[in-house]
Amino acid sequence: MVTIKTDESIEAMRAAGRVVAQALAAAREAAAVGVELTDLDRAARAVLDGAGAGSPFLDYHPQWAPVPFPAVVCTSVNDAVVHGIPDGYRLRDGDLVSVDCGAVLDGWVGDAAISFTVGRARPEDRRLISTAEEALRAGIAAAVVGNRIGDVAHAIGRVCRAAGYGIPDGFGGHGVGRSMHEDPTVPNEGRAGRGLPLRHGMVLAIEPMLISSGADDTYTAQDGWTVRTLDGSRASHAEHTVAVTADGPRVLTAP
Ligand code: MG
Ligand code: MG
Repeated sequence: MVTIKTDESIEAMRAAGRVVAQALAAAREAAAVGVELTDLDRAARAVLDGAGAGSPFLDYHPQWAPVPFPAVVCTSVNDAVVHGIPDGYRLRDGDLVSVDCGAVLDGWVGDAAISFTVGRARPEDRRLISTAEEALRAGIAAAVVGNRIGDVAHAIGRVCRAAGYGIPDGFGGHGVGRSMHEDPTVPNEGRAGRGLPLRHGMVLAIEPMLISSGADDTYTAQDGWTVRTLDGSRASHAEHTVAVTADGPRVLTAP
């Protein structure tokens, strides 16, 4: 069921989204060569705690997962696409890191992700990251009243494919509200003019994921969480929580 949020609820979600933006900024700030992924989690956790916010990630236990998620951020490095668990891995020169973070404030959820490099960046990683961001901007621009979910999906997919990148099969965005994952699903590729019509008050997590080789195949690692590219090529992820409003899309997880 798709829930329509009141303007007051959207304001409350904006407050949650601001905390997410701050937590992501803190995680990025903490990232450097030699730093452990758990340090990124600790930095984000301090922001959530300081804001009095909870984490929709911590202890999240979907049916398919062998264990509850143990952290407040997902850290996905290089060939990891999404859902990486922050562990004792120490970041190396040239690593491509995606950090995904959520916050719950007054019962409302925000969800966003960024990707960046540590140390000396490979030019091909810069391009992968900037294309994911461009795809996110295109998806957001299409999240307007009168459009349909397929228009958002199409806008994202077109940017990714035009750059020659793959789009992981079976992953995409979603509605957000009182819970992290609500209807509708927001695919990262689709047909314009199809699907659910967008209405004022819908809130969507729009989240392109790109695979550098152009392949779409992934697998889940032995930890039961981390999604990796099948061919070992690198991946990038960018996400914002966006409200569809009569005045246009409003990015609730902007800084
Ligand atoms: Mg997310
Ligand atoms: Mg999400």
